[in-house]
Amino acid sequence: MPPKPFPQLSEDQENDLKLNTQQWALSNGLVMYPPNFEPYQVNVAPITLFPTPIPRSSFEQATKVQTLYNELYINLITKRKEWLIEILKRLAEFDSDFSGKLFDIYQKSIAEGVLQPLSLGIFRSDYMVDSSTRQIKQIEFNTVSVSFGGLSTKIGQLQTFLNTTGAYDNKYNFKYYDNDELPTSTSASDIAQGLADGNYHYNGAVENTDTIILFVIQPNERNCFDQRIVEYALFHEHGIRSVRVTLEDVNEVVTNNSGKLYVKSTMDEISVVYYRSGYGPGDYDSDPEKTWNARLFLEKSQAIKCPSILTQLSGSKKIQQLLTNESIIKQILPDIADKDLQSLLSTFVRILPFDDTEQGKEAAKLAFQEPEKFVLKPQREGGGNNIYKLDIPQFLNKIDKKDWGAYILMELITPETFENKILRNNQVFHERIVSELGVFGTILFDEQSGAIKSNKNAGWLLRSKFETSDEGGVAAGFGCVDNVYIY
Ligand code: ADP
Ligand code: MG
Repeated sequence: MPPKPFPQLSEDQENDLKLNTQQWALSNGLVMYPPNFEPYQVNVAPITLFPTPIPRSSFEQATKVQTLYNELYINLITKRKEWLIEILKRLAEFDSDFSGKLFDIYQKSIAEGVLQPLSLGIFRSDYMVDSSTRQIKQIEFNTVSVSFGGLSTKIGQLQTFLNTTGAYDNKYNFKYYDNDELPTSTSASDIAQGLADGNYHYNGAVENTDTIILFVIQPNERNCFDQRIVEYALFHEHGIRSVRVTLEDVNEVVTNNSGKLYVKSTMDEISVVYYRSGYGPGDYDSDPEKTWNARLFLEKSQAIKCPSILTQLSGSKKIQQLLTNESIIKQILPDIADKDLQSLLSTFVRILPFDDTEQGKEAAKLAFQEPEKFVLKPQREGGGNNIYKLDIPQFLNKIDKKDWGAYILMELITPETFENKILRNNQVFHERIVSELGVFGTILFDEQSGAIKSNKNAGWLLRSKFETSDEGGVAAGFGCVDNVYIY
């Protein structure tokens, strides 16, 4: 069955809906700071007025495959460590400014022995639904600073409120969507639960509300409310407190005593270092010596890192490309059931390296002959770094051929488009959009022994952008927070 159309409202009704949406968002924290903000003034986050359709089978497959993905990345780190490290070494040479520095810190952090083998992953696997097959296809697997778990829960609550109070119905008297068509992501609570799992295992598998979580954040973060929602869930649901610090201020705020981290002013012990920063070179630029030293200082400590350097680096695009190989997956997950293997494999599109293998030669050919089908990606996170379609040939011609190895060539996914309405500032845009489904997962594991203490699903995020835009960053101004209408 095709999805039902978007609600059809009169102009007056849409104006009511808009105000209703804005005031709910402001009352409940579905907000973001505007550019150049003052700390006391927020904006409604860019959101869609209506949920966007996604086939039930696609949605279920994406949620089902998440714990398998969690395990794949963890086993890569713990069971194929030597292989991973060889690859990261090569990446470090191509990208000495960033991957290289992270790798250097990894090596320094283990030089005098590892104080904390436990490690926490809060991951998000991003997909688009391929329009012809309806299969989910992975865009990327994020292993550091995954965002929007907080706001995703909020938009689910908002749209459920609007639906239940009749605001999506032009007679104001019935629910436009059935309850099971319009679910709310539990990501805010689930990510908080992941951090609470870290706190619990730090304390020898004992509940403890004396130890705290350190949120490492960017200065002047516009998306801080998304983080605060997780922080408050952690406090309300687990009684665990948090402290926020920028990389620049770590040295001033945190101290190390016999390997353990403490907040200087209160002597609260830190159980988990949770990064919502540190994933791109820009996060270290203000004062490279200070910020990189801070990263090393935290990495060497006894606190559980979320993520560890190795976990962060395993989320690079190069690793994603290597993991599309069936025999490599079988090496990493030797006991995988055939059904699960097929399920994983069905989420991949073609990703090619630029090296001297057959695949590499193919990449060099396709990038020039059929660039309109591809996106070229460097080893970077956070949006705005990719090269699309016809820009690829001239980009490759411009850089030194020996640097091509730092990039991967990925087939473009063609998702279905929908005419939803995007609310940005006070304006409603009625345009075709494409959506990206992100599925969150948390995993607590021993980076030395490979033992997995917990491996869980943690809700989802739907992000949408105008069809005409290549990138989908919400804070960057390209996209908006959406929710699923499952049909
Ligand atoms: P980043 O690490 O910067 O987030 P991504 O790999 O997620 O990089 O790419 C950024 C955006 O580009 C995605 O959110 C998506 O909108 C678009 N994109 C990336 N890869 C593809 C692809 N294979 N097909 C279609 N769109 C893509
Ligand atoms: Mg991305």
